[in-house]
Amino acid sequence: MEVVILFWLGLSLGVGIIAKNRGRRSWLWFLLALAATPVLAFALLMLKADLKVEDFVETVSQSIEATHVRCPHCAEYVLPEARVCKYCKGTLVPQDPAVLQEKVKNKIEEEVAQIKAGEYNVMVVAAAAIAFGLLVWLIY
Ligand SMILES: [Zn+2]
Repeated sequence: MEVVILFWLGLSLGVGIIAKNRGRRSWLWFLLALAATPVLAFALLMLKADLKVEDFVETVSQSIEATHVRCPHCAEYVLPEARVCKYCKGTLVPQDPAVLQEKVKNKIEEEVAQIKAGEYNVMVVAAAAIAFGLLVWLIY
């Protein structure tokens, strides 16, 4: 009986840690896991959007690198469509904003893939811990 309680607590703690990794309140998810089984809480957590990823995408897509290009003469940020730099009056070659948007999109996709890979590693460690716990439980 004690083992089951410890196992329940451990899994609930795991749900809390994963919740924190996804930018959510860990203690709330820990309590939910305790009350409504860790498996149910985990499934619910996976259905909810990853706030860290959402934050990141918003920050990058609103950053000046996403909307402006650097002037080759003075290195100030100017609009991609500009023909003359508003800072140094240097002549610029207008660029298609769609090309810039495409670059930003690719960069975001790359970074999100890395975040997801990191999260996947956390899951693998959590699964290994659960498997180890089960093994110990079965042996004793
Ligand atoms: Zn300039």
